[in-house]
Amino acid sequence: MVRFNDIVEAVQKYNPNADIKTLERAYVFSAQAHKGQIRLSGEPYLIHPLEVAYILTRMSLDIPSIVSGLLHDTIEDSFVSKEDIEEYFGKEVAELVDGVTKISQMQLKPSEDSRAESLRKMILAMSKDIRVILIKLADRYHNMQTLKFLSEEKQREISKETFEIYAPLAHRLGIEWMKGDLEDESFKYLYPNEYKAIAERVAKKKKERDAYIEEVIELLKEKFAQFKLNAEISGRAKRFYSIYKKMKLERLELDDIYDLTAFRVIVNEVKECYLALGLIHAFFKPIPGKFSDYIALPKANMYQSLHTKVIGPRGEKIEIQIRTHEMHRLAEEGIAAHWKYKEGKVFDPKVDNVFGWLRRLIDAQQENKDNREFIEDFKINLFPDEIYVFTPRGDVKELPKGATPVDFAYAIHTHLGHMCVGAKVNGRIVPLRYTLKSGDTVEIITNPTHKPSKDWLGFVKTSKARSKIRQWIKTEQREQSIELGKALIEKELAKHDLSFSKMLKSGELLNIAKDFSFENVDDFFASVGYGLYTPLQALGKVIPEEEKPGKLKRLISTIKRKKDAPIKIKGVEDMVVSFAKCCNPIPGDKIFGFITRGRGITIHTADCPNIETYDEQRRVEVTWDLGKEVTFPVRLKISSDDRKGLISDISTVMAMNNANIISAKAMTYPDKSAAGIYVVEIGHISQLQKIIKSVQKIKGVKSIERLRGLA
Ligand code: MN
Repeated sequence: MVRFNDIVEAVQKYNPNADIKTLERAYVFSAQAHKGQIRLSGEPYLIHPLEVAYILTRMSLDIPSIVSGLLHDTIEDSFVSKEDIEEYFGKEVAELVDGVTKISQMQLKPSEDSRAESLRKMILAMSKDIRVILIKLADRYHNMQTLKFLSEEKQREISKETFEIYAPLAHRLGIEWMKGDLEDESFKYLYPNEYKAIAERVAKKKKERDAYIEEVIELLKEKFAQFKLNAEISGRAKRFYSIYKKMKLERLELDDIYDLTAFRVIVNEVKECYLALGLIHAFFKPIPGKFSDYIALPKANMYQSLHTKVIGPRGEKIEIQIRTHEMHRLAEEGIAAHWKYKEGKVFDPKVDNVFGWLRRLIDAQQENKDNREFIEDFKINLFPDEIYVFTPRGDVKELPKGATPVDFAYAIHTHLGHMCVGAKVNGRIVPLRYTLKSGDTVEIITNPTHKPSKDWLGFVKTSKARSKIRQWIKTEQREQSIELGKALIEKELAKHDLSFSKMLKSGELLNIAKDFSFENVDDFFASVGYGLYTPLQALGKVIPEEEKPGKLKRLISTIKRKKDAPIKIKGVEDMVVSFAKCCNPIPGDKIFGFITRGRGITIHTADCPNIETYDEQRRVEVTWDLGKEVTFPVRLKISSDDRKGLISDISTVMAMNNANIISAKAMTYPDKSAAGIYVVEIGHISQLQKIIKSVQKIKGVKSIERLRGLA
């Protein structure tokens, strides 16, 4: 149990000139306010603010913060008002206590909307004064330790919130011990069985583990002594939650206790970190790929250390962290270690700059995004998995884990993202979906005429890349449709000797657009481009009646609206689609789309005999939409002996394969051979293949061949 004197002593250690008088007044004030109140644990309430204030000293916080820690529950739980606190302790403390009270009053309800709302408020409080969050963290830290007195439902609810919000916050603020403890405490209530199993086993193996730790420390000390390296070395069981994660990840058994031990080496100077690392690696075999240099590349929370994994004296994997005393202090105190205690100044602007994620969160919550997007951003920004990569000029970019060169390109500039066609990582060409690693140098290869692809959405990791690509697709689709619609209408008008440009100038086209309730011609063109109206429908009013049927009908006969065509076009929702007569594709064939001038997109097979005449630039990727049952006529040439009953056998095969014969033409030759051309309705290439196989088995059949084109 913490006594007031413990707090005073702790403060004086890091702040010898601290204003202890104010601290004493706060203690008395809090004791009076909470007088007679009892916690669920049965202890006097005052214990709680004392513990909270003591936890704040572990982060070396300033006097206003610790005073606020002592007073943090007075507004909420007693008759004290914000004005009272301001009168006795000044505006700064009053604002801090008020901020903490506001966060405590937020209920994190299960619904996503109210959770997002609460997060926004919390971030807002944080942006005003980060100390509010530190006090709230200390409050939560102590509450987690006394959670056992609450109902099971409450325990889970609070643990979930702690795990999802407070532990990541502590991590982001660089307070390592607090993050670890908060995780372990919530793990205890969220996975009670798993927690119990791990805790029991760790306790049971304590003796064995302690002996092992002793052995490793002795080995290292001996080695270090040879090189006159002074180091503090300690070892301990890994935290329960990280053991749990490790077991799940590596399918470890609880008996592999050595693997569950972590070592820490603390030295005086940075260069000694690398010396220690070299000695460790010379002594214990390092595991490739398990070394991270967070000294050269500090984490976003400014954490620095060397991390390595080696094969220990008994053939087991051990983890070792190497850092200086100063780095250790920063890892313990977190963000507070970075700011200077100056009158009226809460945040060192340099630190503010480095804690860029905080700025981004604040910006994100001001952007008024919808709640789902906001929570997404919050998670992306709060969770620790970031990597650091370099631009060719050596600037560092921070990206979420799993980010690709496309994310990198968009992180630098939207245009760079749009134009990116490839990337070099450390000088080697990589695919765009390549997963970047910390330390990679990334160079983006661009092509000014290149355009983003919808497929990128399948692998980008940053919200920026995602939203920029989406935005581009929306605009581009519309532009394409306008262009296409314009071309279709122009062509249609030309057929009737009507001039597009004249009608556009005279406003005649605008009038037609208005008849269709469009406000401008572009929307009207787009509707034709999308396939909402055929050009003929769109121009029905201006085309002379006698010119409508006949010729026109034939021209549009192969055009099917996308609605019916079994085709998906990459990047485009609605598009007029027709099927080429030259190669006559059927579902299942490898195909590509060709953007025609005026007739939408024509589908050809990948082996179309005319393929060379189709300009690369105007080809688009298309796939079959097999959910739609549409049949296509296919011409088949069957050579055979001239025998009776053959045609009947062929039609039986077609019928058994559900294929209609539309027409059949047969010829016999003097040498008693025969040839037939059959036009058959086919739904899919596999159906056709079955038919070909079965026909080949018919007695007297010599060959069967799919003819290209519909003649
Ligand atoms: Mn409290």
